Amino acid sequence: MRYSALSLLLNGFRGNKDWAPAWRHPEPKSHYDVIIVGGGGHGLAAAYYLAKEFGIKNVAVLEKNYIGSGNVGRNTTIIRSNYLLEGNNPFYELALKLWEGLEQDFNFNAMISQRGILNLFHSDAQRDAYTRRGNAMRLHGVDADLLDREAVRKMLPFLDYDNARFPIQGGLAQRRGGTVRHDAVAWGYARGADMRGVDIIQNCEVTGIRRENGKVTGVETAKGFIGCTKLGLAAAGNSSRVAEMAGLKLPMESHVLQAFVSEGLKPFIDGVVTFGAGHFYVSQSDKGGLVFGGDLDGYNSYAQRGNLATVEHVVEAGKAMIPGLSRVRLLRSWGGIMDMSMDGSPIIDRTPVENLYLNAGWCYGGFKATPASGLCFAHLLAKDAPHDTTRQMRLDRFERGYLIDEKGQGSQPNLH
Ligand SMILES: Cc1cc2nc3c(=O)[nH]c(=O)nc-3n(C[C@H](O)[C@H](O)[C@H](O)COP(=O)(O)OP(=O)(O)OC[C@H]3O[C@@H](n4cnc5c(N)ncnc54)[C@H](O)[C@@H]3O)c2cc1C
Repeated sequence: MRYSALSLLLNGFRGNKDWAPAWRHPEPKSHYDVIIVGGGGHGLAAAYYLAKEFGIKNVAVLEKNYIGSGNVGRNTTIIRSNYLLEGNNPFYELALKLWEGLEQDFNFNAMISQRGILNLFHSDAQRDAYTRRGNAMRLHGVDADLLDREAVRKMLPFLDYDNARFPIQGGLAQRRGGTVRHDAVAWGYARGADMRGVDIIQNCEVTGIRRENGKVTGVETAKGFIGCTKLGLAAAGNSSRVAEMAGLKLPMESHVLQAFVSEGLKPFIDGVVTFGAGHFYVSQSDKGGLVFGGDLDGYNSYAQRGNLATVEHVVEAGKAMIPGLSRVRLLRSWGGIMDMSMDGSPIIDRTPVENLYLNAGWCYGGFKATPASGLCFAHLLAKDAPHDTTRQMRLDRFERGYLIDEKGQGSQPNLH
């Protein structure tokens, strides 16, 4: 069923009784051409593009929980392509271009809102770094504007410009950045994939990867053995656990990242704002709540919840940027598991195990990548060759010393 203004009207007249479920709940077949482990944004998008762009429809997405229960439904919804490095920028710009046409493409309202993102800077050195980033973006054809303090003050008069430790000097703006309703992205891709014949199988945890003569032949699951010709892993925070089932040790650590939502307020933050002197980012949802986040919890974990010390730390950074935040009540918070790679950049690559493909290492920033990640992973699975924009996102780059160290932090996964 295609969604349109007409279908809305007609269904309204019929008492909304005729809406078909957005996707089926099939039992698994015994064999698929491609199985994708993980019904998050990346797994569902990959299945969608496999069917739509490459005509491979005998595909299953296996999700241990319900779709959207992982990070795709837990993130702070920010999209942007303000990257510095050659290995990242064209890929994230591809993602942003795909976001721009996504709702029409998969016929689902994902509330894509290009309300802009502004990264504040607080020192001469940081201004120089942001200028360099802005120039690199422009050289790649990506929009970037450097704003001085007065231009920022006009947009956001309530920030603490004269903070003794972190005075605001200006900001780097990407006006095409913004927010997207995250769970709708999972639903839109799930529906689009299902319509093209992909089986989305929920409550189906993968518990083992079967190999014969070194080749992957299928997976052991909560619903029994399911065979496949190719196996794609898109398990985000659980990537290392799943890869271990095929004897692979991944160059990544899992950490908790928390997100927070305040009580509803009248509109006062138009776009996304990030604090440059600490880790804090905030936007305002359409319901009025401030949606914000900051640093990771500092320890490795597979739990989808964090600790109070980090809540205090994040809120402190927020208050240094917006003093008025101290008057706002926090409504709720949650956590998600981040697959932090050693250089902060992702991996979309074949693995040394035959028929096994990996999509992982998204750290803090995988939501914005979802459409490009899905398309490029589908490309890899279909053609056995990397998409042009993911040539550097190799698994063996850590061995070869070709890191994509966007932040220049070195091999320190919890700092990216
Ligand atoms: C609090 C928070 C804020 C964030 N904010 C942003 C942001 O503003 N912008 C941005 O770009 N990114 C953000 N991110 C990061 C982003 O959400 C992730 O990088 C991205 O969602 C990961 O890809 P995914 O959607 O496929 O992951 P997920 O949705 O986590 O999908 C992976 C799926 O695999 C399933 N799975 C795991 N193991 C198995 C198994 N054995 N068998 C079957 N299924 C399995 C999981 O249940 C899960 O559903 C944030 C993350 C968090 C937690």
